[in-house]
Amino acid sequence: MAKLTLVPTPIGNLEDITLRSLRILREADFILAEDTRTTGFLLKHYEISKPLHSHHAHNEHKTVEFIADKIAAGANVALVSDAGTPGISDPGFLLVRECVKRGIEVECLPGPTAFVPALVQSGLPCDQFYFAGFLPQKKGRKTRLEHLASLGKTVILYESPFRLVKALEEIAQYFGATRSVSVSRELTKLHEETFRGTAEEVHQHFSSKTVKGEIVIIIGPDAVESSDDVSDDNEVD
Ligand code: SAM
Repeated sequence: MAKLTLVPTPIGNLEDITLRSLRILREADFILAEDTRTTGFLLKHYEISKPLHSHHAHNEHKTVEFIADKIAAGANVALVSDAGTPGISDPGFLLVRECVKRGIEVECLPGPTAFVPALVQSGLPCDQFYFAGFLPQKKGRKTRLEHLASLGKTVILYESPFRLVKALEEIAQYFGATRSVSVSRELTKLHEETFRGTAEEVHQHFSSKTVKGEIVIIIGPDAVESSDDVSDDNEVD
């Protein structure tokens, strides 16, 4: 029986793709991609030639039924995003929901996603955590920050480099200046770094530099006892 397979792709380092993911991409009847040029580059690297169709935040509402029809009619479809796991702050949920609703088999392969390495290498508790994705940029931002600060769990945020300093300032304000924070930048890439400290220290560190690249922020459930014990100073370009 045909199915929908969600295939995680590298978040920077092209070696981070599983053998199974490559096989599924080779065997699919067609691949749904967020940006066909980005995925085209990945497929070329692995010498995979497959029809690519656009599936992104701006068209997924309109196309899920058509795609589900194709799978129901026997097409094996692979869904990828530009990087990481589809559905994690990326398109995927609507199509999965439609397939589940129709009884179409859905499988998500294990593979790269930015928040897992950022969380695990943060040194902050990872037994319970709350993945909050991107903060709302305007409406609802304050309410969301207040809610996240009240959870008493490790909180994970995705952030753009242009908004990092503002977000860190707000984290110090809402979670407290001594709350433990870890920022991972450019995971799996040449200039990967993780900077750990109090909210205030991390804010100061990134305020004094031009920040580039992709960012995951991890906020611990507690204040730092002694910042000297946990701060691991790394260079930012
Ligand atoms: N689907 C992806 C996943 O599984 O992680 C997330 C896609 S979301 C549109 C992109 C965000 O993920 C970036 O803005 C950044 O917050 C985070 N991200 C992706 N790649 C990263 C990397 N190499 N290092 C740090 N953060 C990354």
